[in-house]
Amino acid sequence: MNYVLQSGKKLSEKKFCSYIERKVFKTIRKYKLIERKDKIAVACSGGKDSNTTLFLLNKFALQNNIPRPEALAIEEAKFRKKLLFELKRFCDSLGIELHVFSFKKEFGFFLDQKLRKIKSLGFSNCYVCSILKRYLLNKKARELGFTKVATGHSLDDAAENFLLNLLKGNAELLAKEGPLAGVRSHPFFVQRIKPLYFCSTKEIIHYSKIKKIPASLKVCPLRTLTIRVEVRKWLEKMEKKHQGVKNAIVNCMLKILPFLKQTYSDSEILECKKCGEPSASGQCKACFLLEKLL
Ligand SMILES: [Zn+2]
Repeated sequence: MNYVLQSGKKLSEKKFCSYIERKVFKTIRKYKLIERKDKIAVACSGGKDSNTTLFLLNKFALQNNIPRPEALAIEEAKFRKKLLFELKRFCDSLGIELHVFSFKKEFGFFLDQKLRKIKSLGFSNCYVCSILKRYLLNKKARELGFTKVATGHSLDDAAENFLLNLLKGNAELLAKEGPLAGVRSHPFFVQRIKPLYFCSTKEIIHYSKIKKIPASLKVCPLRTLTIRVEVRKWLEKMEKKHQGVKNAIVNCMLKILPFLKQTYSDSEILECKKCGEPSASGQCKACFLLEKLL
């Protein structure tokens, strides 16, 4: 099936795949996302974005004769089991190693066992899940000797994050955007990279179908209605009406990003008094949440 680009140009399946690969590999080179000395982990949820990231980084490594990526997955709730089983099969088919860490083993509970507690504390499931998942990914990636963690963030996610942080008035979070995430480095932080930063969700779905990359398109069953979901729906509506707005948002953001990064470049990173992980204050967000949840 042909794919129609924003410019109106039609691409055959073969041409579309080389267009995506060129775009992703160019992002990697332009932003120096991967260097020869790097050991790359891909944070995999079993969804289309992260599976496609793993597939493309593997291809990039083979083409450039550099070490191949490995997959890191978090089992945050019981429903993830089936997806992880499929992810394992996918990794095996590529000959890639998969490392799985579970909330239950690391924190003593699965997220679905704490839903009532999370609600009573006034948090959203997505907030708690993202903090704990990010914490675990960083810690485990570092312990396994990875120098970078690649995530499946797309152009749609980037546009969404930009608007979301604007609506929340959070300029410091905004400064962390970009294909090479973050503003400051710390020996305990594993650099995060986003190779699919300029690929739209629509493009990723099309590519993963052609390449037969197994991927769940299902929405997380624990997802709660957050402002993020509202922003996503609004952006979808805008994109349908005015094609190209997501692209425009991301391009605009990349122009102001260097100034924002500069502004926040000297804010201090401390270490959590409890677990020793890097944190903006004396206690990291994961320890703060765990204290309330346990
Ligand atoms: Zn901590």
